[in-house]
Amino acid sequence: MIATRTVQSYIGGKFRESRASKADQIPDPATGQTIASLPYSTAEEIDEAVAAAKKAFLSWSETPVPDRAQVMFRFKALFDQHIEELSALVTKENGKTLDESRGEVKRGIEVIDFACGAPTLMMGQSLDQIARGIDEELIRFPVGVVAGITPFNFPNMVPLWMIPVAIVTGNTFVLKPSQLTPLSAMRIAELLQEAGLPDGVFNVVHGANDAVNQLLTHPDVAAVSFVGSAPVAAYIYKTAAAHGKRVQALGGAKNHILVMDDADLELSAPHVISSAFGNAGQRCLAGSVAVGVGKIGDALVRELAKDASQLKIGPGTDPKTTLGPVIRGARKQKLIEYIDGAQSEGARLVTDGRQVDGGDGFFLGPTILDGVTPKMTVWKDELFGPVLSVMRASDIDEALELLNSSTYGNMASIFTSSGKNAREFKRRAQAGMLGVNIGVAAPMAFFPFTGWKNSFFGDLHATGQDSIRFYTRHKVVTTRWL
Ligand code: NAD
Repeated sequence: MIATRTVQSYIGGKFRESRASKADQIPDPATGQTIASLPYSTAEEIDEAVAAAKKAFLSWSETPVPDRAQVMFRFKALFDQHIEELSALVTKENGKTLDESRGEVKRGIEVIDFACGAPTLMMGQSLDQIARGIDEELIRFPVGVVAGITPFNFPNMVPLWMIPVAIVTGNTFVLKPSQLTPLSAMRIAELLQEAGLPDGVFNVVHGANDAVNQLLTHPDVAAVSFVGSAPVAAYIYKTAAAHGKRVQALGGAKNHILVMDDADLELSAPHVISSAFGNAGQRCLAGSVAVGVGKIGDALVRELAKDASQLKIGPGTDPKTTLGPVIRGARKQKLIEYIDGAQSEGARLVTDGRQVDGGDGFFLGPTILDGVTPKMTVWKDELFGPVLSVMRASDIDEALELLNSSTYGNMASIFTSSGKNAREFKRRAQAGMLGVNIGVAAPMAFFPFTGWKNSFFGDLHATGQDSIRFYTRHKVVTTRWL
């Protein structure tokens, strides 16, 4: 089991105490009580992790693809077996409800399932007789040592967007999980070890900016997979690319949900609520802006307020809870400042979540702001908490113009009963993941996670065929036998 007091690192197949003297205290967001201490890895330890990954690459990249896939099958079986325990760990360090954690872990398992298909997914292409007596083939090879840098909001699933595909394609990996939620990463390391992954193929180091910068500029790191906020994603993209690495950097979001006046309001509103407030709004696919299109605006606000009042705030461990805490007290404070600021900029506070009796936990109730305009900070910034802005548009053209003026382009959804509106939306909305009568349009693992604009920096996205291409490089061989 994991060390809950002092979080270890995992380097070259060994769980190790860090030599660092400084450590963060990790609280349970529902109680504020310390559950672990996290020493940051030293620069030497990070070098050791990269060196272990570099060494392991020599034999792992030569291991037959079906044998690598067998490790994934065993890893998947272990994940299935431990799903409750893994979910409880996510709830403990992140605060989300147990149901949300189960959903997260199952989504992670989907990526392992996908990676089990590596022998098929890694196949190249060939063409016989491209000229007289000459054949040509494209072959895929792993790229080398991959660094993964992940956020706090999906401590189990987001590392799994990367690890199974990266390693099954023959790469080795150094993970630097969020310093706010480092525990799930260590459990993943234990299960990979139990699944028979050779030492050094997967490593975990801890820390914040310094650790990330060391990985981004390390001469032995070939590729960087990043998921986090937009400004950091932009920085990661530029810095890693400037150091000659291939990079995919998934950023933040401001997802709009259009509710057309031809939509069934009673059926649609619960989806908007669950999109906005699920995972306490700390989701890159959270619908944080609801746009009432046509005459539906006032009725939409009433329905949303009614549904939001049904949410049950509490610790994620209580099965009745539908809205858990946010990750830290400082983030809660920042969200309250956003709500105060929106009010002073003229937004109307319909549902006020600022006063919640949550003891020392970091609880913020569901908050709905009406009359939000594109001039307000609350619309421009990603808030990343249980705060929903409501806006109005007279028709679909105006709604699409509003949505498309966002600097983000992760997800957008439409609720409508009109095929014409849905088609217009599908063709014209400038976001990479779209939902039609779906509140959280999360692609399955065999499709890529396709953010646009400031929600993604790079060329090849996470998961799906994109991820196979990201973690491999091609060779084209042209052959003639004389
Ligand atoms: P974050 O950007 O603060 O941190 C992400 C990672 O980057 C962490 O490991 C952190 O240690 C590191 N980091 C942070 N600041 C850094 C800096 N200045 N230099 C180097 N490294 C740095 O993100 P977070 O608060 O942990 O996570 C929430 C964010 O992640 C939200 O913006 C959310 O939308 C985004 N997110 C996006 C997706 C997606 O698929 N697009 C998925 C999940 C989360």
